[in-house]
Amino acid sequence: MACICGGRKIYYTRPYEGQELCKKCFIQSVEKKVKRGVRQNKLLLSGDKIGVALSGGKDSSAALYIMSQIAKKRRDMEIFAISIDEGLGKYRNDTIKKSAELCKMLDVPHYIYSFKVELGKSLPEMMKKDPTLNACTFCGVARRDLLNRKARELGATKLAFGFNLNDEAESVFMNFIFGNLDKFTRLGPKVENKNIPQFVPRLKPLREIPEKELFAYCDAAGLPYFSKKICPYGKESVRKSIRKCLYEMEEKYPGTLFQIVKFADLIIPPIRDSFRKEGKLKFCKICGEPSSKETCKACILLGRQK
Ligand code: SF4
Ligand code: ZN
Repeated sequence: MACICGGRKIYYTRPYEGQELCKKCFIQSVEKKVKRGVRQNKLLLSGDKIGVALSGGKDSSAALYIMSQIAKKRRDMEIFAISIDEGLGKYRNDTIKKSAELCKMLDVPHYIYSFKVELGKSLPEMMKKDPTLNACTFCGVARRDLLNRKARELGATKLAFGFNLNDEAESVFMNFIFGNLDKFTRLGPKVENKNIPQFVPRLKPLREIPEKELFAYCDAAGLPYFSKKICPYGKESVRKSIRKCLYEMEEKYPGTLFQIVKFADLIIPPIRDSFRKEGKLKFCKICGEPSSKETCKACILLGRQK
């Protein structure tokens, strides 16, 4: 079989589409899919200042690269990257190095914020003080809050993440397993809360790209990224079990991930209004950030450290 361009040097095979692609056509097809998704889902508007959450891994590196291609063609858009340093030692230092390399290559401003400076303690310091704390729960909540706050302070009108197709299919399953219909109805290419202007709308421009393709894409495009996931706190979790199971399903039955996300996209619009809990506009009494409760989750978790 040959590539769609007639070339015989195949770089990537897409079983779910029965396609074999040379390197150039593969790069183009990933970028085309992402740009089409951005357009069709109206993720960007004239005047947008896009913040990209950059972890230094393949997903966020690809997101920054493709979003910067879009932003740089437009005079009315700006783009920058934000990285969070949880204080995870060599692992995080290496990922931040890769992030800085990519931003330099793309000539994109790069902002780095640490837990230590912004929250008073690094993640290992928090864990030392309270070993019962679930590192990933705290880390996830605190990082999300910090990214939102800093993106807003930097004037971002959108905050883009590197969530890929696998991540989205996992989220569909997570909400299904935990029966969380409110969260389920919030899935989609854009997550926003129009009632709370302090909440910067989150974009998932890579939502249609499988994880495997993002590794191949970053390699083909020559992007610097950190390929190993060796956070010292990464443990077994429900999400990890779902990830493994869906990965096996996709290998056996190509297209499974697309079908799961497509199913969610079809079912969410008609049920959204019945199950979404639009909480009243509230702000955390401690940090002042948007929160569904009197004290936000990050402050509750941080409070345990006092
Ligand atoms: Fe944070 Fe590490 Fe858990 Fe990821 S694996 S959420 S970086 S503690
Ligand atoms: Zn708070």
